[in-house]
Amino acid sequence: MFDVTILTIFPEMFPGFLNYSLAGKALEKKIWNLEVMNIRFFAKDRHLTVDHIPYGGGAGMVMRPDVVGDAVDSVLSTHKDTKFIYMTPSGTKFDQSIARELVGFPHITILCGRFEGIDQRVIDEYTPYELSIGDYILSGGEPAAMVVLDVCVRLLPGVVNNSGSITEESFSYSGGVLEYPQYTRPKQWRKHRVPKILLSGNHKKISDWRQKQSQVITKRRRPELLDGEINDKFT
Ligand code: SAH
Repeated sequence: MFDVTILTIFPEMFPGFLNYSLAGKALEKKIWNLEVMNIRFFAKDRHLTVDHIPYGGGAGMVMRPDVVGDAVDSVLSTHKDTKFIYMTPSGTKFDQSIARELVGFPHITILCGRFEGIDQRVIDEYTPYELSIGDYILSGGEPAAMVVLDVCVRLLPGVVNNSGSITEESFSYSGGVLEYPQYTRPKQWRKHRVPKILLSGNHKKISDWRQKQSQVITKRRRPELLDGEINDKFT
């Protein structure tokens, strides 16, 4: 069981798109479990304030450590073995190999920030695993957490039917290359034909052709994936 707790001020955003298709079915089948906790529940005043202006001035609001800290403590008290993650653009860049690591934990907790982010002392106190989904600024950690979970859930046994479709995808080969082009019916669409080799029935030739296509596409678009250093992550 892949067991997840989300900390957010927008609990109603979940499960969101994770309630559909593969992830949604897997949630129904209890292959994974999602608990969503509202940080606002831990607010100290009757207005349920979770943020305040930054010390030192500047734009925006910062999430208060006393409120967020109590929310984190309440998860930690029931899930002592949790892997605690904070979604932040300053974190380690998320990828397929990190997803493979995350599904190995008995429980993960994902803290979603809003506004200008969370008071640094929360990060100093709990030293969460800081994770980014890319070099851009979202308005909140919720979509980032959903992206991470979507990637993780489809790695769980029984979620994607054909286990080959997981290992053959981009970034999942031991070589960490991009995927070859895919075709389905009809054989001819407008002026475009399916490459003949795919209709040949010769599995060896098809497999060689696909590997070659992967190499060419990777070299053209993401040459850095063919460098030894990055490849190591996928072996
Ligand atoms: N002021 C912050 C950005 C805050 S954005 C900065 O410049 O770094 C508000 C929240 O959105 C963050 O606390 C984080 O939880 C989430 N977030 C925004 N972009 C993200 C990204 N690329 N990856 C992961 N989380 C992100």
